[in-house]
Amino acid sequence: MSERKVRVRFAPSPTGPLHMGGIRTALYNYLFAKKNNGDFILRIEDTDQNRYVEGAEEYIIKALNWCKLSIDEGPGLTTSKGPYRQSERKHLYKKYVDQLIESGHAYYAFDSSEELTEMRELAKKAKMPNWQYNSITRNSMQNSLSLSKEEVDKRFSDNVPCAVRIKMPRNEDVRFFDEIRGWVVVNTNNMDDKVIYKADGMPTYHLANVVDDYLMEISHVIRGEEWLPSAPLHVLLYKYLDLEKAMPKFAHLPLILKPDGNGKLSKRDGDRLGFPVFPLQWTDPVTKEVSSGYREKGYFPESFVNMLAFLGWNPGNSKELYTIEELIKDFSLERVGKSGAKFDPEKSKWFNQQHLRNKSNSELAHLMLLDCKYNVSNAFLEKVANLMKERATFHHELLSEEYFFKIFEEYDEKTFRKKWKSNTLLLVNEFFADLDLVESFLSNQIENTFQKFIEKKEIGMGALLPCLRLILTGKGMGPSLFSIMELLGKQEVMHRYNIKSTLFENLFLEKSNS
Ligand code: GLU
Repeated sequence: MSERKVRVRFAPSPTGPLHMGGIRTALYNYLFAKKNNGDFILRIEDTDQNRYVEGAEEYIIKALNWCKLSIDEGPGLTTSKGPYRQSERKHLYKKYVDQLIESGHAYYAFDSSEELTEMRELAKKAKMPNWQYNSITRNSMQNSLSLSKEEVDKRFSDNVPCAVRIKMPRNEDVRFFDEIRGWVVVNTNNMDDKVIYKADGMPTYHLANVVDDYLMEISHVIRGEEWLPSAPLHVLLYKYLDLEKAMPKFAHLPLILKPDGNGKLSKRDGDRLGFPVFPLQWTDPVTKEVSSGYREKGYFPESFVNMLAFLGWNPGNSKELYTIEELIKDFSLERVGKSGAKFDPEKSKWFNQQHLRNKSNSELAHLMLLDCKYNVSNAFLEKVANLMKERATFHHELLSEEYFFKIFEEYDEKTFRKKWKSNTLLLVNEFFADLDLVESFLSNQIENTFQKFIEKKEIGMGALLPCLRLILTGKGMGPSLFSIMELLGKQEVMHRYNIKSTLFENLFLEKSNS
């Protein structure tokens, strides 16, 4: 038999912004598809109109775009397997419901939601808290199995709202193979008669999901662990609809856990624990509450994606820094773990820092240009990037030192107090006199002049270098001062020396006199 074409889908419900777990699911689907020359499909599962959130679908698409997980098929892209929003596929499901009713695997249920709530309350009082609509209780409910044919017909002609439920068999084992977990066996006694079609003519998630996976020729269902309990029902639906041959393979991804390992990382954890859980910032359309996003915090999409890839998967060696192309090459479901992956916010910063360092200076300068408020050349920004990139986690930090662009106003008090001594000005004056003679103002020449100077004076570099840094940058620490000097140029260096050395000396005198 010829190998089935790999077709995977990411199937979010537009019930709010996608959290990082959702993006990880999309990423694993994408990697798996691309690795196997397959298709990556986006399907919007919006059958539950009550949970629909304004702007959520747009958010999902923007988030995927930001992460550069391009879809082959999805809303707005015309292909033969569409439409890709379930609400636009409403007409497709009825046929499958009818087939299930006809074959005796589903039935009509007339119970109103009030009646169902009442039933649950009664069961709770009778110390049966987990009441379920199932093979035992269905006979005492209002449905086409418990009522006479006449009664059922009467309800139809009276237009009594009715849903369709799956008829779960008694005591049967449902077995399926999960690509990550191995064989999973669930007994139907532990499953209930789920509603598969609602009174409003909309399928529920379970039926729509199975029918669409079939119609869209999905080969692998790769989704979060929270859907594992639904999988046996899906397997039964394939069986009852005679679609077993078309059934996709299943892979349920491990949970992403809170940093302390205690429970699943939830949408509410993010800003509460001091890190974003959403790829992009999200403003709740109702409450207007704003939740932070990785993009707005300054993360590169490639480092966000690299970090997510490692939440549940590893390549089996010590390599951690990956481009998306390398992830595609190395990814496999076999290397996805079963147990929950602890999210580490510090590690996500580390990933960003590493990706930043791997970028070329010109790439970084390009990003800096967008935020830079000074009128400087691209070449100048490239040099700033070169000096700052080892010290930055986010690209906006490359612009954090104002001294590259203008004479500083504030200075580091502590360095001044510790380092400016009564003989400092004299040393500084002599050093700058030597420096003035340097013709090609390059960092190694400047460094040479400095080395010779301290040797001549028989002083350690600690006696002079911090004061020079103070004069030129106002700081106690920073990238190589010789390189900063080269970048600022001789004229600017001499100018700062002229202004700032007397200023610090005056401050010193004031302080020693008080
Ligand atoms: N609509 C489900 C969700 O919101 C999809 C589950 C699946 O992939 O089957 O996550």
